[in-house]
Amino acid sequence: MRHIVFLDTTLRDGEQTPGVHINRGGKLEIARVLEKLGVDIIEAGFPAASQGDFRCVEEISRNVRKPVICALARCVEDDVKAAAEALKDAEKKRLNLFIATSPIHMEHKLRMTPEQVLKRAGDCLSLACRLFDDVEFSCEDATRSDPDFLVKIFDIAVAAGAKTINIPDTVGYASPAEFGELVRYIRRNVKGADSVAVSSHCHNDLGMAAANALAAIENGADQVECTINGVGERAGNAALEEIAMALRTRADHYGCEIGLDTTVLTRISRLVSSLYGVTVPVNKPIVGANCFAHESGIHQHGMMMDRRTYEIMTPESVGLTAENFVMGKLSGRHAFAKRLTELGYTTLSADAVTQCFARFKSYADKKNVTDDDIMAIVNEYLDSQTQIYRLVNFQIQSGSSGRAMAMVTLAAGDGEMSEAAIGDGPIDAAFNAVHRLSGATDISLDEFEIKAVTEGTDALGEARVKLTVDGGVYTGRSVSPDIIESCIRAYVNALNKWAGTGGEG
Ligand SMILES: [Zn+2]
Repeated sequence: MRHIVFLDTTLRDGEQTPGVHINRGGKLEIARVLEKLGVDIIEAGFPAASQGDFRCVEEISRNVRKPVICALARCVEDDVKAAAEALKDAEKKRLNLFIATSPIHMEHKLRMTPEQVLKRAGDCLSLACRLFDDVEFSCEDATRSDPDFLVKIFDIAVAAGAKTINIPDTVGYASPAEFGELVRYIRRNVKGADSVAVSSHCHNDLGMAAANALAAIENGADQVECTINGVGERAGNAALEEIAMALRTRADHYGCEIGLDTTVLTRISRLVSSLYGVTVPVNKPIVGANCFAHESGIHQHGMMMDRRTYEIMTPESVGLTAENFVMGKLSGRHAFAKRLTELGYTTLSADAVTQCFARFKSYADKKNVTDDDIMAIVNEYLDSQTQIYRLVNFQIQSGSSGRAMAMVTLAAGDGEMSEAAIGDGPIDAAFNAVHRLSGATDISLDEFEIKAVTEGTDALGEARVKLTVDGGVYTGRSVSPDIIESCIRAYVNALNKWAGTGGEG
């Protein structure tokens, strides 16, 4: 059977999800679980894009050894050199070099003629192939490019020594039949295409990303680029779990083999959802909460007779186990640490576990703590490692007459600072006080959501905020037994992301 190579780009393309900024600790945790899942290649970042991305690629290169670590670069000498530097400690490395090839991108974005694009690609490819054994070449917006121009530029790439040629549907424009046809055309017409891998990279703007990726495979593609939960810019990328389970469940049709341990899918889906702050819809294929729930009487009856009547995959095959793990105040540090590993956190230091355990204990005295609560605690800890502001204390005065007053103290560096503000209700007042302390000129609260994570009046309250700060979008979340505290923490969390990027979106 043909082996399909999985290139996961959750940490690169997926991080372009609006409002998502993950710190290095969180990225390393995800990379480790991707390694466990068995992806062939991890696209870890775009080193030339920012210092943060550079350091992430470097750290993943040093710590994750089994998969190939890949970095993205434009056809620019400095980008290629930055990628080579960031990847220097990787055991196995790949460069993904890209240039736009559609008329609209060449003319309006690159402001180059097609001939100039061919020349630039050729020059950069020869540099890239001198520095790397494994070079992938991608044509941005390939599906709106002239297929014969694609053949021309891929000819240059293969001749220069690229080992993978990638066909991105950057804007999610293609239909499956059309995309399959394009893959076939490239395979047939590029000189030496038989000696290289052909790859797809599909976006989900019209809901066809996974279908397009599968059509590419049916037409001879050897590699898929995808993300966990389909995270990514706009409507996102092709979802890894959908492609993987389609290939596995319909092996009779596709006739392909994959190297993934699909029982890791549920765990990594939850980890990515929690760290990215992007909720998985209940009806999301494979990993949604309802995927293996059978509500109707007729279905339930059939399921009791034989599960296969209404179930094409088992929950166990994607790592969904019946046990609903709940930890309470009697759970010790050892059980807590073990649960962290099971949830996918494998790089936490002993000190980090101790700090998270202390926070867990303060909740567990009040309530049973679920996996989601534990993940929220750890993610907040990971964020706190790079945070600039920390909530020290707050006091609120409010009543039924409308206006409320809040006094908030934040720690920043070695000092503390306090500010009082009024607002429409306690949360608005507290947000106004934090806004003043942050020094940001322009903040708007775009989304604000509060929900009880657990049941009862002593439930843990989870707050999520989405802010636009000086033009950039930042999300924050927090859980706490005190709902006002969790709102303030979520707000501070988002501001820390803003402050951490030096205020550049
Ligand atoms: Zn993309």
